[in-house]
Amino acid sequence: MKLLILGENCLINLSSFNRSIFTTFSLIASIYARQIAAVTPKKHTVIVLENNENINYNEEYDCVHIHFKTGLAKEAYKMADEYRKAGKIVILSGTHTTALPEEAKTHADSVLIGSAEHLWPIALKDLEKGKLKPIYDSKNYNKPDTLITKNFEIPTNQTIIGIIEATRGCPYKCDFCQESNVQSGSIFQVRPIEEIIKDIKKIPQKFLFFCDASLTIDTTYTKKLFRKMKPFHKKFICEGNADVLAKDEELLKLAYEAGCIEWTVGFESFSQQTLVDINKKTNTIEEFAKVVKNIHKYKMAVLGNFIFGFDQDTPNIFQLTRDNIKKLGLDSARFAILTPYPGTPLFNKMEKESRITTYDWSKYNRKNVVFKPKNMTVEELKIGFKKISEDFNSISNLIYRDIRSLKYGIYPFLSTVERNIESYLNRPKKWL
Ligand code: SF4
Repeated sequence: MKLLILGENCLINLSSFNRSIFTTFSLIASIYARQIAAVTPKKHTVIVLENNENINYNEEYDCVHIHFKTGLAKEAYKMADEYRKAGKIVILSGTHTTALPEEAKTHADSVLIGSAEHLWPIALKDLEKGKLKPIYDSKNYNKPDTLITKNFEIPTNQTIIGIIEATRGCPYKCDFCQESNVQSGSIFQVRPIEEIIKDIKKIPQKFLFFCDASLTIDTTYTKKLFRKMKPFHKKFICEGNADVLAKDEELLKLAYEAGCIEWTVGFESFSQQTLVDINKKTNTIEEFAKVVKNIHKYKMAVLGNFIFGFDQDTPNIFQLTRDNIKKLGLDSARFAILTPYPGTPLFNKMEKESRITTYDWSKYNRKNVVFKPKNMTVEELKIGFKKISEDFNSISNLIYRDIRSLKYGIYPFLSTVERNIESYLNRPKKWL
């Protein structure tokens, strides 16, 4: 069969200029289309598209597979409908279809719930026999013990940064986190380290981005991985949790020696009550300064993530964040508006309280207010968020942080510059 797999970047409408910047430098790219291609039986012909320039609804395919998250659901459904109108069989997968399979089913011939890499070969076998089922649910099939993810044989237009995945899942299940709350997302799985090393040898790029939810969940595994990575002289960025990064200096030393140049840390909030309420078990505010200090001690940069709009948040949260963030000495930060993604306890709670104000999934991107906040108005949330994002990312602040990061070395400096430029280009005045 001739199969088409669409990467998430196909669902993002970018101008040609932005696309070239995005695909060249961006750290946000999906690895999943290539992973799905990797598990496709070799007898089939697979085409993977990573941008929407070459989409032709009339080209002959036996099946089109679209994998997407909630923020891209609207575009994914539009494309799925077009392909179906052109007579193609469409299969949908991803966190959104896993959370809302019944909705996805109205735009597809078949929907995969849970691990797409696991279910795709099963669905293809049925398709060949003319017996494609409307739903494939991971729960009904025995899952392999190890995480099946690989495939760097398909060329990517991501020219500077190679993407890699070592682990998947996160057991902490923070209330707002879709990945860890849909189906088996809280089951932590690891890939054999030898497999990752094989992939690293194949990836031509000097820079790697680990798309794992967190590399601090099983530190014994991660330390072993970092030790094995050392001889390859790659430079990489990864995510980790505050509890481990505040204490485990051996991990940080090994990360540095393996080539880590930046840790992304979800600090989320400077209100301890909020952290308790949202079930962010890994975060204690008193440890935040230690996290940044430790990472800097081993000459790596820190990108901090913060979210606004939690039920405990009043308009004062912006000033509280402003005061505390200065003391942390972060190299870059990403601010987000709380987004109740389907499949999360947060979404269920807000639905129950009738606080969801729109089901337009294209607005579920951490930049829009899609619910009624509890302790501030929608306007206060929007304005406070816009102001703190713009203050933190003013040109003078960017230059100051970029220059300051030079003391950690050229690579942490470069990643800091890239992060700060990205934040500047994405500043809220463009979309609020
Ligand atoms: S620690 Fe991070 S990845 Fe894990 S559940 Fe919380 S937000 Fe999700």
